[in-house]
Formats: sequence, structure tokens, C-alpha cells
Amino acid sequence: KNLTAAEIKQITAEENVQFLRLMFTDINGIIKNVEVPISQIDKVLANKVMFDGSSIDGFVRIEESDMLLIPDLSTFLIFPWEAEHGKVARLICDIHTPDGEPFIGDPRNNLRRMMREMQAAGFSRFNIGPEPEFFLFKLDENKQPTLDLNDDGGYFDFAPVDLGENCRRDIVLELEKLGFEVEASHHEVGAGQHEIDFKYADALEAADNIQTFKLVVKTIARKYDLHATFMPKPLANIAGSGMHINMSLSNAAGNAFYDANGNEQLSSTAEHFLAGIMDHARALTAINNPIVNSYKRLVPGFEAPVYIAWSGHNRSPLIRVPQARGLATRLELRSVDPSANPYLAIASILGAGLAGLAAKATPVAPVNCNIYDLTPEQRRAAQIEDLPSTLHNALKALEADEVVKAALGPHLYQSFMESKRQEWSAYRQTVSGWERKQYMMLY
Ligand code: GLN
Ligand code: MG
Ligand code: MG
Ligand code: MG
Repeated sequence: KNLTAAEIKQITAEENVQFLRLMFTDINGIIKNVEVPISQIDKVLANKVMFDGSSIDGFVRIEESDMLLIPDLSTFLIFPWEAEHGKVARLICDIHTPDGEPFIGDPRNNLRRMMREMQAAGFSRFNIGPEPEFFLFKLDENKQPTLDLNDDGGYFDFAPVDLGENCRRDIVLELEKLGFEVEASHHEVGAGQHEIDFKYADALEAADNIQTFKLVVKTIARKYDLHATFMPKPLANIAGSGMHINMSLSNAAGNAFYDANGNEQLSSTAEHFLAGIMDHARALTAINNPIVNSYKRLVPGFEAPVYIAWSGHNRSPLIRVPQARGLATRLELRSVDPSANPYLAIASILGAGLAGLAAKATPVAPVNCNIYDLTPEQRRAAQIEDLPSTLHNALKALEADEVVKAALGPHLYQSFMESKRQEWSAYRQTVSGWERKQYMMLY
């Protein structure tokens, strides 16, 4: 569905589209919009819309603040939900500098850059299949989110236990109208927690899809007086929300992770790539789990990874190799959570994997037991390291990792660090209810 500018103009006229929403993503993974009335369509399609980049997190210094929005025509779609003032269409945009150069601080452009590195290494696609999880909370009479979950169902429960069912079905239907191929949708382990899996796509399209997905989920949930959140751990003591990333590389011969004669039918490419992710796992955590709250999910007991290990057979480790082989051969990285900026996350995972390939790195032995049952001594003997336990520790690991830094490029790395150090420092200065409860009387 690669539309030309003329076709887009025609469709917007036929469909009575009244507004164009020009979308891009800031460094924190937040979708930003510039909305223009349809009268501006010629300007949009001629790449002439400018915006002030200095007000966007992680973008530019004041003196070079004017940026161009270059719509990616392949991302054109009309939002299927009713809009009071006529239909709204969106285009995801690349950001260019006023002299027409792709802007290096644009996470989407950075992912394109990493994909060119992948092509130079002999691969045609980085296939990404995400498994985003989210919670539905009830809204109060002022339409503010409460801490009341919309149901008390559990894993794969059916209605009537699962009151989120209708909302989730509606979300799936809207996604299908938008061209998503939804492969599965089910209630997750936590009360009020859901997962919707859609078909894998090449890295850039997959990152775009994740952003569109979150927008659709939040929009439809509102119709049901629910608030959908992708916050990784909204409630202590129940499961958090992850976004497992399934991945494989393709080349001319097909899935480059599959080798009928390989060890466990995995190719050496898959092994090197896996080793690369393992070697850079601590630094990757800063990007894949980028908020203070992410680390409340990465604790034992809730099916979220805590240790750097891989396995073909069980679900506790950081990386799992699902049983499927042939075309579906893939690695599943289980640490990523949906607060990650998908463009940065996918670019840095790719950077780590490609570094593993370049170095012909070999992975440590798989761990096929339940790692949580091992003693610290046994873990040390098996060379199983911990993932960082706080955002602060993850940032320190990123600071020391040249491969992951290079996958972001200096501009994005600096803006990311600056923004995250501020976040950590603000958090460090808060005093929580837990602390008062523990210490107020005792000391
Ligand atoms: N919610 C779990 C997590 O935090 C994953 C549960 C699952 O999909 N098996 O990653
Ligand atoms: Mg799943
Ligand atoms: Mg799940
Ligand atoms: Mg999974």
C-alpha cells in the first residue's frame, strides 16, 4: 500500500477527511502530533510543514529549532473511530533539518540508520513481533483513572469473569480496520491485564505499529470509560506489563536464524546475535526499561526476567528460543516493557546483535532450570549475571557500553542520558509511603 501523494489527496477528498495529523515520536517514546486542517494538504505533501523542535523532549537546541515534517506516505491511514468534526487521517513523519537533511536526533531516522548497517552486514529485514501487555482501570466520575481494575479475571479467562472482553474485542476490530493482522488477544495473568499480539513486520514498520497500537488501545478504552495504561508496574504484588520482542533476521535465503543442521537447528548467525544481546544486556536495559517504574517489574515472582540467561525450554530467562523452527525461528527478548521508545529499543537491540555477529561471539550455555530456584553461589558458578536493578544502575551500564551508545548515536545518547538523569534525580528526592510506614515509628 505505497500510495502516491496524488492518491492520498484523492482519498482524503473522497472520504471527506477534515484533518491531517502529522505524527512523530519524541525521545521518551511519546507520540507527538501536529494537526493541520485539510486545506493544508498540498503543503503537507510538498514537505513544507515546519514545527518548533525546541519544545520537543530530546530534540534540538534553541538556535536550530525549526524542523521540517516529512510525511512517510506508506503510513497514511484514516482513523476508523467516529470524529465529531469529520474524519481524521494520520501520517507518520520523519524529521528533517531546515536544509533538508534527516535529523540525527529523530529516533525513527536513527532506526533507519541501523537498518542500513544491517543491510551492509548482508541482511534484508529485521523481523519484529511484539507482545504488548496493558492494564485497564476504571475511570471515576471526573474521567480520571482510578486504581479499580475493570475485572478480576486471570490468564486466558473467559467472560463473564473477563469484563474487559468487549473492550478488547472492540480494540481488535479497530486494529483490523487499520490493517493490523491480530494473531492473538487474551486476558493476562493480572486482574484487568490484557495482551494483544499482532503480526511481525520489518523493524521500522513494527516500531510504527507499536506506536499506532498504543494510540488505538488508549482511544478505544476511553469509549468504555476505562483507562488503558502501558506503565510497566501499575500495582505492586501483581504481574507487571511487558512487551516481549520476538525477532529474526532475513536474508535472500529466508530466515537467517534457521539452520536445519545447526545446534538445536539454530544457525551460527542466531547464536552470534543472541550472544551479542547477552553481552550488552545490562546497557540495553536502560533503553528497553527506561523509566523508574520499569524496575519494579523486573523482580522475581511475576514472570519477568531478573537474570541474564537464555533458554530453549523455559520462560524464566531474559531470552527464550521458542520451539518453532523454519520460517518462524526466532529469539524472544523478555525484558522489554511497553514504556520503551520502540525506535530506540529496536535500534539498540539490532546494534547489540550485529556487534555479536561481527565479533562472532558465542553464547554461554543455556540455562534450562528455573533460575529463581538457584542459590546466588550456583548462579555465580553458572556465570549468570543480574539485570540492573534500578534505572540508575542501568544508566551506568549504558554509559560504559560503546556498542549500545553507537546504536543510538551521540545526539540521541546525550539527550537520553540528560532526560533520564533528571528523572532519576527527581525520583531520588521523593519520600514514599513505604518509607514512612517502615521508619516513622521505629526511628
Ligand atoms: N507479564 C509478564 C511480564 O512482565 C509476562 C507474562 C507472560 O506473557 N507470560 O513480562
Ligand atoms: Mg505472549
Ligand atoms: Mg504475555
Ligand atoms: Mg511471550
